[in-house]
Amino acid sequence: MEGGKYFDLKIETMDRPALEKLQMERLQWQLKRCYEESPFYQERFKKTGIKPENIRSLDEIVHIPPVTKQELREEQLAHPPFGRYTVAPRKDWAELHPSTGTTGVPVNTIWSHRDVKNIGSWTARTMWNFGTRPGDIVQNAFSYGLWIAGMSTHYAAQELKCFVVPIGATMTERQIDYLLNPGSTVLLCTPSYALHIAERLAQRGISPKDIPLRRGCFGGEGGTEVPATREKIEKGLGIDAFDYYGLTEIGPTVSSECEEKAGLHWVEDHILIEVIDPDTGERSKPGEVGVLVMTHLTKEAIPMIRYWTNDLASLTTEKCACGRTHARSIGGILGRADDMIIYKGAKFYPVQVEKVVRSYRELSDEFRIELTTDEKRRTDICTVVVEQMAERGDAEILASRLKKGLKEELLVTPEVSIKPVGSLERTTFKAKRIVDNRKK
Ligand SMILES: [Zn+2]
Repeated sequence: MEGGKYFDLKIETMDRPALEKLQMERLQWQLKRCYEESPFYQERFKKTGIKPENIRSLDEIVHIPPVTKQELREEQLAHPPFGRYTVAPRKDWAELHPSTGTTGVPVNTIWSHRDVKNIGSWTARTMWNFGTRPGDIVQNAFSYGLWIAGMSTHYAAQELKCFVVPIGATMTERQIDYLLNPGSTVLLCTPSYALHIAERLAQRGISPKDIPLRRGCFGGEGGTEVPATREKIEKGLGIDAFDYYGLTEIGPTVSSECEEKAGLHWVEDHILIEVIDPDTGERSKPGEVGVLVMTHLTKEAIPMIRYWTNDLASLTTEKCACGRTHARSIGGILGRADDMIIYKGAKFYPVQVEKVVRSYRELSDEFRIELTTDEKRRTDICTVVVEQMAERGDAEILASRLKKGLKEELLVTPEVSIKPVGSLERTTFKAKRIVDNRKK
């Protein structure tokens, strides 16, 4: 801890050639051990005829085929419980963290003792990035236990000498009690839960001015970088709100925004980030949106070589105004490649619907995108379900304005259904935005 603007001045402001040299050394170490010690990776290398020594630059890694979650699942089913890509020996294992299973059978991942140390340290860095300092009271409303972010931020808050309220993603009333007393100064949770806490705060008649909370970082799902969502969280809680991102297979809290709020900074000394065009399999140009593909440079227990995250983002290596040189994804995670909705020939993502819905003062923060089948016409129907705040104008006029707003953003007009506040279920974890009831 430097005690100044940066958590680790040398690493965070390293010039790109030096950073890439460090990445290359670590990549060679990782490729070699995976090739020698993991039959799973060995088979993949042999299929393509590539050997670790053939990869002589960071760009050449594109010749190694990406690993998908489905492949990890199949490998673990064939070789239970961890598959044959567990490289560190059993005696070095520290923690088990399966994926949430929201998209199928959970995939098990393991952190070695050294991985736990690295994760704690890079998370301390990402928390420092958005302004967490020793003495802060960190209300950790990320889910604890098997889920990754509760643990990583807890370790990091300890490393930063903060006072932690380890409440987890539960008990909304007590979340508010702790915001009042001891008076948490940093809140960590999903953006949907932050909005829910803000909503309850208002319902209890507590002004954001009456709580000492000053910043929060929100991950587990996208949305924090949607301007209207960020504004709602900031106003509702009286804070500066920052974006956070991580994923089970790679690790928690691997990127956060800095105080410039200029996109997610990656911990590039631990993870090699690529953005790949899903149609061509080639690298996207800087600023172009594609699928994030990640390679562990330091992970010991279960290393991933080119993990296909399915998450969409862009990447820039332009130096940030904060002085950090590590690459950023401006605008954060834009959605999941398989969340893309194709409706009447147009393609769009839930985050675009969120952008529109959250810009209407008459609407609550909740929304759903319902997909059904019109059996007579044999077509899909896409309905955006929203909640209208009580006594805020005529519902019909609002519906037609909302349709117009959605058309401008999505280039197609969905149906709109306006319901009273409280009709849609609130979540303390990740919000489910798409309800697919189509007849397959
Ligand atoms: Zn920055």
